[in-house]
Amino acid sequence: MQGGIEIPELSPIVVPVFVSHLGCPHRCVFCDQTQFADPVAPKDVSKVVSAFISSCREPHRRRRLIAFYGGSFTGIESRLLERYLDEASVLVKTGVVHGIKASTRPDLVTPEVLDRCRDAGFVEMEIGAQSMDDSVLQASRRGHCASDTVRAAGLIRTSGMKLGIQIMPGLPGEDRESFRRTIDDVLRMKPDHVRLYPTVVMRGTALERRYRAGKYAPLDLEEAVLRCLYGYARFSEAGCTVLRMGLPPSRDRDIVAGPYHPSFGFLVRARACRIMAGILMERFGSPLELEVNPAGISELLGYRNENIGELRFIYSFNDRLPRGYVQARNAVERGCLQLKDIIEYIL
Ligand code: SF4
Repeated sequence: MQGGIEIPELSPIVVPVFVSHLGCPHRCVFCDQTQFADPVAPKDVSKVVSAFISSCREPHRRRRLIAFYGGSFTGIESRLLERYLDEASVLVKTGVVHGIKASTRPDLVTPEVLDRCRDAGFVEMEIGAQSMDDSVLQASRRGHCASDTVRAAGLIRTSGMKLGIQIMPGLPGEDRESFRRTIDDVLRMKPDHVRLYPTVVMRGTALERRYRAGKYAPLDLEEAVLRCLYGYARFSEAGCTVLRMGLPPSRDRDIVAGPYHPSFGFLVRARACRIMAGILMERFGSPLELEVNPAGISELLGYRNENIGELRFIYSFNDRLPRGYVQARNAVERGCLQLKDIIEYIL
């Protein structure tokens, strides 16, 4: 696949190239990266990228990016890193992809490595902040502190690349207050996008041993949904895109315990609708007719119709309403709610 016209409204193709655990100075307590396949070798990057792109619909009309995931890309030993960068930059120069991105640890971000990545065609760098609470980071054996994340975020922004930040609600030692402070601190770094991955216990990890010894209790699904909804609402209010909530389904992942759900993002958005519907019903009484964008109807009804089963509202479509808004039909004032209106009701 070469060149092509990029049509922004089509979702980008992000080709994951797994460099499983490469560059990591140690293993974090929750990390299961060693359960995955061996890292893709530099010589195979081009093959992996071409095969992935050719399996996608309308690839020549979409933005195409290589994403080095699953390790600490900027921490990879310099000769090996150069080989990855050389292979990927050829794919940028020849128009196979439009750019490159990677995930990495905040303490392994330096001006020098960012310069080298940008020269090779990097457009984004994502850092695993996980928490901005040093006691939580220490309990998770992350090996870096919150100030490393602030410093790395500043360097990435200065480099001109987009900044992504990953957060893991429910790490050891985190409570609601600590999580709220993490959201405040991450917002101050002005990321372009974030991902929220509630902590789950994977087989073979140090966290599994703590869990089995009764020294770690994961969040239950309800609390994980609420913490993620709080983050989702705060980031959305600030104009920051939440790219993902919850781990993607994977056959390779062996989850022992924790708030995993295959439709986690849906649960969060449905919970937002339930809170909005509840506020409007309290305001206007029942029976009440609620309107949403046609694309958001299943979120209003809730997972397995839980929302409508519990609140017993009537519903209809309104395609002039943006998705995510809930409006009380015929209400003259204060009848329309969106995410930012429910922040104070979540946690
Ligand atoms: S830095 Fe990321 S990939 Fe490396 S051990 Fe920690 S969680 Fe796993």
